Amino acid sequence: MIIDGKQIAQQRKEELRKQVAGYTKQYGRAPGLDVIIVGENPASMSYVRSKRKAAAYCGIGGELIQLPETISQDELLGVIRACNKKEDVDGLLVQLPLPEQIDVQTVLEAIDPAKDVDGFHPSNVAALWLNDPAVVPCTPLGIMALLEESQTSLEGKHAVVVGRSNIVGKPIAKLLLDKNCTVTLAHSRTADLGAICSKADILVVAVGKPKMITGEMVKQGATIIDVGINRTKDGRLVGDVDFDAVAPVAGAITPVPGGVGPMTITMLMQNTIACYLKRINK
Ligand code: NDP
Repeated sequence: MIIDGKQIAQQRKEELRKQVAGYTKQYGRAPGLDVIIVGENPASMSYVRSKRKAAAYCGIGGELIQLPETISQDELLGVIRACNKKEDVDGLLVQLPLPEQIDVQTVLEAIDPAKDVDGFHPSNVAALWLNDPAVVPCTPLGIMALLEESQTSLEGKHAVVVGRSNIVGKPIAKLLLDKNCTVTLAHSRTADLGAICSKADILVVAVGKPKMITGEMVKQGATIIDVGINRTKDGRLVGDVDFDAVAPVAGAITPVPGGVGPMTITMLMQNTIACYLKRINK
């Protein structure tokens, strides 16, 4: 089975659009999402455009704020502080990566945690690990939604997550743990990755290397979630999993493109609405 992230994301966006219409009537204003981009990295430009397009589709307001590559850290922090103060802005994100003169952690910490729709602020990270109410990062949320939609049973299953970044690997491992999976978190120093992956009932791969996962690394019937986004020399988007070799072995698999990516953007809309409701109802 191919898990059609594009279709699932569209259905969920449709539901969010209806919710937003209702809330806008009820509360007298739409949710707002400001997206800040520094520089003109083509991949980042394409991501922020998709984010703003999804926001417009759902009836979410806000702005795309484009800043020059040469902006200083202090100037960027000033823009973030201004967005933090905007009454009609409920969600704020700064597209990563940032130019080298800017310290990413300082920027993430400057975002009001109540508007931190990416869930990257330390207080949201801590809340997630402490099981307190938290904004959960969008990609892990999207993966959980795909597992739910594909009716993958989680309790007692062995989940292997390859990649331990703060934005994908660690939070998805935590969410799977919360669903009572037994979780192995693998990384670049993991010895014999193939042996570990081949024991996984659920395999989540977030590395950024094409064909990392081959057919013989996968257990028959396993659910494979391919988070990776890589561009081939001829310009095609591919994941971290060798799809043609793995799909015949897997029980279910996400494609790239059309798997985790669209869900990530839909979850950003969901997080924006959740932040809006919290601010409106406080
Ligand atoms: P990072 O570069 O932050 O992390 C990559 C991880 O992969 C690290 O933990 C690294 O290990 C591990 N790794 C590298 N080489 C190997 C190896 N040979 N064997 C096992 N593990 C290895 O990446 P991100 O988590 O930010 O992103 C991962 C991928 O997911 C990228 O392709 C990115 O574009 C994509 N992505 C997709 C999203 C979507 O919406 N679809 C959203 C976010 C990311 P170590 O820690 O030891 O260095």
